[in-house]
Amino acid sequence: MKNTIILFIIIFGLFPGTIKIAAQDVNLRQKEYASGSKNDALKWQIELRGQLFSLFKMDDLITDQEKPVIGPSVLKTKDRTNYVIKELEINSTSTRRIKIIITIPKTKKGNLPAVVCIAGHGDNRYSVYEKESIYHGFARELAKKEIITISADVGQHNVYEPNRILMGERLWDLMRCVDYLRSLPIVDKSRIGCAGLSLGGEMAMWLGSMDERIKVTVSAGFLTYMDQMEQNHCMCWKFDGLRELVDYPDIYSLIAPRFLQCQNGLKEPPTGFTPKLAEEALKEIKSIYMDYKKEDNVEIVIHEGGHEIALQELLDFFKEHL
Ligand SMILES: [Zn+2]
Repeated sequence: MKNTIILFIIIFGLFPGTIKIAAQDVNLRQKEYASGSKNDALKWQIELRGQLFSLFKMDDLITDQEKPVIGPSVLKTKDRTNYVIKELEINSTSTRRIKIIITIPKTKKGNLPAVVCIAGHGDNRYSVYEKESIYHGFARELAKKEIITISADVGQHNVYEPNRILMGERLWDLMRCVDYLRSLPIVDKSRIGCAGLSLGGEMAMWLGSMDERIKVTVSAGFLTYMDQMEQNHCMCWKFDGLRELVDYPDIYSLIAPRFLQCQNGLKEPPTGFTPKLAEEALKEIKSIYMDYKKEDNVEIVIHEGGHEIALQELLDFFKEHL
C-alpha cells in the first residue's frame, strides 16, 4: 500500500510537469536560425520575413502595388543654426495620417544620408531630440552632422484600424517614414539607417529586420530574450504566433549581413536589458553574420550607463557605416 502511494505521488508529481516542458520544447522558436551556407541563410531570411509579415497582419500592405501617396502637409517649420525642423503629416495608410518630424541640413550638398530615430515607452517623436533625456539628444546630434533625421510616434497602445495589430501598425508607420525619405530628392536612398532605445530599440530591430532598405541599425537598451520580457515588462512586444516562431536573436539575424550595433548598459537592473543576456544573444546573432562572412558588420557596445543611449558609439557607428 505504502509503495502504491509513493508511486502515485511520483507519477502525478512528475507527469504534468513533464507534459508542460515537452510542450514548450516542441512549440517554441520553431524558426530558430541554424548555421549553414550563405544561400541557406538567405532562404531562411526570406521565409521568416514572409511569416512575420503575416503575423503582423501586414500582407496586404506590403504586397499592395499601389501604396497610398505620401501626401505631406507641413504643420510647422523651425529654424536652427545648421538645419531646419519641419513638423509634417503624411499618409500612413489610405485612411490614416501620422505626424512626423524631419530635420533637413542647411547644406548645398545632395545625396545625404538619413536616420529614422525612435523613442520608447512614455515618450514621443520629440523625445529623441531632447538633450536632457535617456536619448541624450542623439537625433539632434545626427541632425547637426548633415544627416537627415525623421521621427514618428510608436508609443501608442491602441490599435487604429480594424484587422491590424499594434506592433504591425507601429512597424508600418516607420516603414512609411522610409517611403517618405526615399521620395525626397535630397536623400541618398542607399544610405538610410535607424536607431532607437528601449521600445525604440525594439522597433529599430523590427525595422532593420523587416525593411531591407535600412543599411545601418542601432538598437539600444533592448537586446535580450523573450523569457526575460515575460517578466516585469509591458507586454506590448508580444503578439499571436511570435514566440512559437522565434526569439530575439532570430529577429536580429534578419538584419544580416547589413550593419548592426546593439547597446546595453552595465547599470541595467537585473529585470532589464542586462549585458549578460545581450552578449549571449549576440553570440547567436553572430552565427548568421559568419555564414555571410561579414562578422565585422555586427557589434555590441557594453557601456557604463543604464537604460540610455551611448551617444558617441552611436555617432561613430553611423559615421563609419552610413
Ligand atoms: Zn508597451
